[in-house]
Order: sequence, then C-alpha cells, then structure tokens
Amino acid sequence: MSTTGIVFNIQHMTVHDGPGIRTEVFLKGCPMRCRWCSNPESLDPKRELGIYPSKCIGKDKCGLCLKACPKGGSPLIFTEDGVIIGSNEQCLRCMSCASACLTHAIKAWGDVMTVEQVMKEIMDDRVYYESSGGGMTLNGGEVMVQWEFALELLAACKKEGISTCVESALLCSREILEKFIPLTDIFYTDIKNMDSAAHSYWSGAGNEQILDNIRYLSSTGISFVLRIPVVPQVNNTEENIRKTAEFILELENPPVQVQLLPYKKMGTEKYASLGRPYPMGEDYNMLPRQEWEANLKELADIMRGYGLPAVEGSNHIIRR
Ligand code: SF4
Ligand code: SF4
Repeated sequence: MSTTGIVFNIQHMTVHDGPGIRTEVFLKGCPMRCRWCSNPESLDPKRELGIYPSKCIGKDKCGLCLKACPKGGSPLIFTEDGVIIGSNEQCLRCMSCASACLTHAIKAWGDVMTVEQVMKEIMDDRVYYESSGGGMTLNGGEVMVQWEFALELLAACKKEGISTCVESALLCSREILEKFIPLTDIFYTDIKNMDSAAHSYWSGAGNEQILDNIRYLSSTGISFVLRIPVVPQVNNTEENIRKTAEFILELENPPVQVQLLPYKKMGTEKYASLGRPYPMGEDYNMLPRQEWEANLKELADIMRGYGLPAVEGSNHIIRR
C-alpha cells in the first residue's frame, strides 16, 4: 500500500521558499510552538476541524453536518440560535461534517494523501520548473515529523529529475536528518534565538539540537539558506544578531544567504477557527512599516559588517 501523509496545503507557483518557481507542499505536525506562528493549523499532526461561525446558516435551517456525522453530531457545539461554534473531544476527526457543509462553516485542516497524489500535483507544474530553475519545496509544520512520507516524496521527485528543497527548523535527530541529505538540493532553516532559555520560552524548545544540526548541515557542503524571523521583544536585539553572526562565521561552510524576515501578525482567524487564543496576545501588534523596515536594515547591516550575505526579506534570487 502506498505511504500516506497528512498535507494541509499545496501551493503552486511560489517564489520565496527556494530557487525559481516552485510547488510547495506543507506537511502537518510540528514539535515547536513558536508564539508568532501564522499557521496554527500546521501544529497538530492529526487532521482538525476549523470552525467559522459567521458562515453557518444554522442547524435548524440546514443541519447537513449533523446528518453526515457518524456520532450523530454530538461532537459539534452550537449556540442557542443553532450556529456552530466548535467541536469537542468526542470527535473522530473523520471530516464528514466538513465535506457536507456547503457554506464552508466547517473546514477540514489536513488531507490524507498518497505520494502519488501529491506527485500528480507537482508534475502538473513541471514546465514552470524547467523555465525558472524551480522545483518542489517541502515545508510544514515541521517536515521531519512526517519524515518517512517526506523522504518518499523527495525520492519520487528525484526520480523525475525535479529539484528539491526542504524548509525545516531542524529540531530532529541526526539520524533522520542524514537521510534527507542525498535527496535534497537545498535546505532552508532558521535561527530564532541564540539564548536557549529565551528560545525555549518563545518556541517551546531549546536551541541546542537545532544549532548542532545546522553545524552538521554546513559540514556536509550542501547548499542552505539561513533565516532569522525578526520578532520585536523576542529576538530583535543587536546582542542576539551579533551572537548569531558569530555562530554563522564558525560554520564549516557558509549559508548561501542569510534572510532577516519581518514579523507579520497573520493567522489570527485560523487560531479562532481552532478555538485557540493568539499566543503572542491579542494586543501584540506589528510595528508600523517604516519602523520594522528600519529595524530589519539595522540588523542586516550588522550581519553584513561581519561579511555575511545578509538580506532583508525573502524575495531574493537564490543560486545554488
Ligand atoms: S469530524 Fe466526523 S466525528 Fe467529528 S464532528 Fe465531524 S463528522 Fe462528527
Ligand atoms: S452544515 Fe455548515 S452551515 Fe449547515 S448547520 Fe452545519 S455548520 Fe452550519
């Protein structure tokens, strides 16, 4: 039987996560809990229901979700007026209610897909890879959570001559990471904070294994891009950037590029659809554009002062 994975999105024609034009496959599941994460639907490795009450026309008028549910609708929660507002732990995550709901008040986060099904979508875009030097990018969530499925997908791309990119936080065992090296043309990874205690506070895990894996990745000679999500009050200090630069300078082989990415408050509707609060706090907001642009430039200038190929943002041509 073909290996299956849980995919929460396939984006076509992306240009920011890897060279050229790419098809980007997002796998569900992540061991980290970065508070600024804009894809909360990516965290749980299982399929989940997203609930959008404003789209529900009411169970008395409609009720299609109740009829479709093998548990008679008991996992679904409605207001007194019959508008859907959530689900409970009795839910089997079969997603029948989401398929039945015609107004998309219930959305299924995550599809079970075979390698062949994902490959079909990738192959449909082949002409764009050839004209642009692009290919397939695996992203998450955290790709390493579904590593067996990810490896099969990468191997299938290689068999078809399609270039591969993996974006991963590298919070995984060395043993697993080693398996990705022969199947991946370029990695994108990131450093969130050089202080492990702060890293753990803001993302749910210390940075030791991640930094160790970046050292290993660099020692293999494989191409990689290093990203720094610049989040105000979290890691946007001169001290943290200098420590990050010093770490990069000690690597055996340098990254192709160091990208400083601005924090953007995104995904709040998705948090609400999952019944979860926005982890940075509802009042936490982006800096005004001029301020975050200036902050990013100031930090990138520090990096460039060390001779590193630092750029602001992700919209840059990558040559392997
Ligand atoms: S996912 Fe399945 S079990 Fe859960 S509420 Fe929907 S139909 Fe019922
Ligand atoms: S099927 Fe959709 S619109 Fe109809 S009652 Fe259920 S959630 Fe509301």
